[in-house]
Amino acid sequence: MADNIKVAVFPGDGIGREIIPQAVAVLEVVGRKFGHQFNFKSGIVGGAAIDQFGEPLPEETLRLAEDADAVLLGAVGGPKWEGMDYAIRPERALLGLREKLGLFANLRPAILYPMMADASTLKREVIDGIDLMVVRELTGGIYFGKPRGIEKFGQEERGVNTLVYTTSEVERIARVAFEVARKRRKKLTSVDKANVLEVTELWRKVVISVHKDYPDVELSHMYVDNCAMQLIRNPKQFDVLVTTNMFGDILSDAAAMLTGSIGMLPSASMGGQTDKDPHGYVKGMYEPIHGSAPDIAGRDIANPLATILSAAMMLRYSFGLEKEACAIDDAVFNVLEEGYRTPDIFSEGTQKIGTKEMGDQVVARLKEWKVVGS
Ligand code: NAD
Repeated sequence: MADNIKVAVFPGDGIGREIIPQAVAVLEVVGRKFGHQFNFKSGIVGGAAIDQFGEPLPEETLRLAEDADAVLLGAVGGPKWEGMDYAIRPERALLGLREKLGLFANLRPAILYPMMADASTLKREVIDGIDLMVVRELTGGIYFGKPRGIEKFGQEERGVNTLVYTTSEVERIARVAFEVARKRRKKLTSVDKANVLEVTELWRKVVISVHKDYPDVELSHMYVDNCAMQLIRNPKQFDVLVTTNMFGDILSDAAAMLTGSIGMLPSASMGGQTDKDPHGYVKGMYEPIHGSAPDIAGRDIANPLATILSAAMMLRYSFGLEKEACAIDDAVFNVLEEGYRTPDIFSEGTQKIGTKEMGDQVVARLKEWKVVGS
């Protein structure tokens, strides 16, 4: 039993305020069922924080995140705040949280639920059984490297960005990826462009050296262009992919779309294990990959499953509560198997329900869940 697990809850904007309560209800029932005590503290972030405090990530919200063991986030942004200065847009809150919490690893699973294969644009035989995870480096690489900018260059202008990784940056993301692979099917593909970019030649060298600590995991390497093709051609060959910030940005979106349903896709952004933490918890921020969907906000039709599955990732990756995470994954599977669908994933012959009822259905399956051996 884990006591006083501190979770900062930031609903954010738009549908964030509808989907987060569903995920919290799911965590509450898991707590009761498995004997853990979650201590939820809510904070204001994104556009809502701009309206109230004039900035997207107020000091108080940041402090809540820093004090918590993990953060559960809805989504930020919306038309009301578009056109504002980039420095104070709602999305800056996400970058601020990642930076201040030291979240350098982004985990994005892509799982195809068999009953939803028709939602994908690819043929059923290509995608049936997909269960892969993209581990993306999140705080380095070309998105952050210096020098950067647009400068005068003779008679014209020149844009400059710099791709840079140090050994330690590669080593820590490689370790996360090997650990994740260890909890799965023990196959890791490192994606680089080592034939052209020296930075990724170093990347490959470091990944190979970290592999020595994980002999039980099978390691392979793939160039990014080939990987993009293979994801579409034969995605079932992959278990865990690890790659740089920019390659991961692109490949994780491609992988996500194999499953065809944005409302179903969770994500985790993780830091290292804090030595200070007596429980061995790993700091992480968990959120659906979709945005605040202003076009459907406030109508009780948003799909809460991506957020509920993000809560399951939180249990698995921050707190090591594998059994509890599996219970949530199974509950979601069963609700879909029984034909319940929010409008975004509705198809002929299934039953259309709203956001709250979808949350209630998952909670009901968890209440029926039999805790074995505890
Ligand atoms: P979006 O992901 O919010 O929406 C894209 C489309 O998918 C919309 O048609 C929306 O209705 C639908 N959709 C998204 N999530 C859904 C769900 N759970 N259930 C049902 N349908 C869902 O992307 P967008 O429209 O480009 O952006 C809207 C706002 O969100 C913008 O302000 C953007 O900057 C912000 N955004 C935030 C995040 C984040 O908080 N992590 C990520 C992406 C976009």
